Amino acid sequence: GEGLGNQFCSGGSFRMTLKNPEYDFKWCPGCGDFGVRRGLEGALEKYLAENEQPTENTVVVAGIGCSGNMVHMLEKEQPFGIHGIHGRSLPISMGIKMGNPDLNVIVVAGDGDFLGIGAEHIAPQAMRNLNITAVVMDNGVYGLTKGQSSPTTDLGVITSSTPYGKMEEKVHPLRNYLTMGVSFIGSTISNKVKDMSEMMYQAMSHPGFSIVHVQSPCTEYNNTYEALKGNVKKGIEPLAYDIPEGHDPSDAEAAQEVVNADGIPLGVIFRDTSRPTFDQKVKDITGSKEMKSVESLIEGFAI
Ligand code: SF4
Ligand code: MG
Repeated sequence: GEGLGNQFCSGGSFRMTLKNPEYDFKWCPGCGDFGVRRGLEGALEKYLAENEQPTENTVVVAGIGCSGNMVHMLEKEQPFGIHGIHGRSLPISMGIKMGNPDLNVIVVAGDGDFLGIGAEHIAPQAMRNLNITAVVMDNGVYGLTKGQSSPTTDLGVITSSTPYGKMEEKVHPLRNYLTMGVSFIGSTISNKVKDMSEMMYQAMSHPGFSIVHVQSPCTEYNNTYEALKGNVKKGIEPLAYDIPEGHDPSDAEAAQEVVNADGIPLGVIFRDTSRPTFDQKVKDITGSKEMKSVESLIEGFAI
């Protein structure tokens, strides 16, 4: 059928939030992002209660894509939200944290937004250990613009932008996060709402840059539910598997083994709480060092 990912098309049986009827945004029936939303709402509720924080202490930052609609779709108490520009959710988050380091900042992004357009921003924030949480909804496709190949689309797959098959190898997000120095890495799937919610809560509580990477199938352009969950009747082995309970996320070598293995591991892969956060470093120098006046900074550039 006609994709409902495009927010300018109308018709069909889509769900629309009743709170913001002036926006004509929607997700298609069965989209994995509905599960991610429920997971995020649950995690946020727990985080705010545990930390005795008001909802407005949280800011949800999105780029562009079906994932970006998360900002408007949250149905419980509304945190602040910024629906920003394509691929730039991390720089925007950094700006928010520098303005007010005490805010709980959550990025919601898709594989295209985060790993394609925004890829260059991941490594610097990992090195800074910026204290935010990124929820990445990976569906291996650009859904909003109707099905072009994305960084996580498999090699050789035919899409509207790759009529002769995708020419590039697919990106391996979990391996990349670990190599880049992301200090909390979790991997989950959109239908496991309870597990996902707990993982998101842990990510928000983590001191540093945390990523919860969610397999969130696009039912319209790349329905991977069966491949991920398997199908006994058809003899399809599931791609996704639970990381064995004995795994120690503080063990970097063990984490490396998990991300190098085939398939999609589900669970917390890596967690390093030993590093200082960028926010704390900024707090430490603010007020303790003498700042130059704006006039003297401008003077420094004068020839
Ligand atoms: Fe529809 Fe796919 Fe977008 Fe979900 S990701 S809203 S299924 S086009
Ligand atoms: Mg996508």
